[in-house]
Amino acid sequence: DKMDHINIQQVLEQTVQETVSEAEKGEVASYIPELARQDKRRLGISVCLKDGTLLSAGDAHLPFTLQSISKIFSLMVALCEHGERYVFERVGKEPTGDPFNSIIKLETIKPHKPLNPMINAGAIAVAGMIPGATVEKRLEKIMRLLRKMTGNPELRVNYDVYQSEKQTADRNRALAYFLKESKILSGDVEETLDLYFRHCSIEVTTVEVARLAAILAADGYDIVSGEQLLPREVARICKTFMVTCGMYNASGEFAIDVGIPAKSGVAGGIMASVPQRMGLGVFGPALDEKGNSVAGVKLLQRLSDMWDLSIF
Ligand code: GLN
Repeated sequence: DKMDHINIQQVLEQTVQETVSEAEKGEVASYIPELARQDKRRLGISVCLKDGTLLSAGDAHLPFTLQSISKIFSLMVALCEHGERYVFERVGKEPTGDPFNSIIKLETIKPHKPLNPMINAGAIAVAGMIPGATVEKRLEKIMRLLRKMTGNPELRVNYDVYQSEKQTADRNRALAYFLKESKILSGDVEETLDLYFRHCSIEVTTVEVARLAAILAADGYDIVSGEQLLPREVARICKTFMVTCGMYNASGEFAIDVGIPAKSGVAGGIMASVPQRMGLGVFGPALDEKGNSVAGVKLLQRLSDMWDLSIF
């Protein structure tokens, strides 16, 4: 009710204030030049409650790009288009323990398929599964889902970030060509990479990320539109990957310290879904050495402690 909302709002504002200085411990991503321009001291959060109420504090209205958070939504599209069997013949279900852009296990593990869809290699393999005659049509499938889920018909790709990544993505290009040689990717590799760069560059705010997280928390049901936007089974698979691989090779530590299914991105965003309770969207561009938002993780940890949000 109303009292609760006022209380939550106060906690959010106070916790953002107490946590913002954590950003000093991190650095903004610089391997994508356009991301290096972000102001590292930003911190924002939005919470979408079970009844659809949205509460925000800090820099909740600053746009940032989804980056790896988008891997959840390309996976949703691939699962809806092809079903589980097809998808998991081409990408695994296991965490790697390696950085998100690592190439090493692609060669050392047999069969040569990426270990999971949350690392870059796995997400590029998933992008390859999204059908359509042109890159635009393939992207449209992801955009349509995201527009429906966020309720924002204006959602778009940040062209500068997309171009910046496309021009500097030698590592991702190497991953993609390796996948082609292993027959995980077929067709035009550059087009699939292009789709991957574009979906990583979709621009959002924490408000939208909190809504996405809330729909996942409610097993695919959207309280705002009153519609089941994705199959429960697909939501369940995505949330499970968020627990095991969502924070890259810090997923185990995050599970202990925070205990919420979550997915991060190198622009500094985190999408966190507390099953049956709430969705959280966080933005703080200063990253730790594993590529997770330093202040964002700390903020989630504090809220999880205060509100007893851990699923464990
Ligand atoms: N677009 C980024 C990349 O491929 C996404 C990585 C991330 O957010 N960890 O490097």
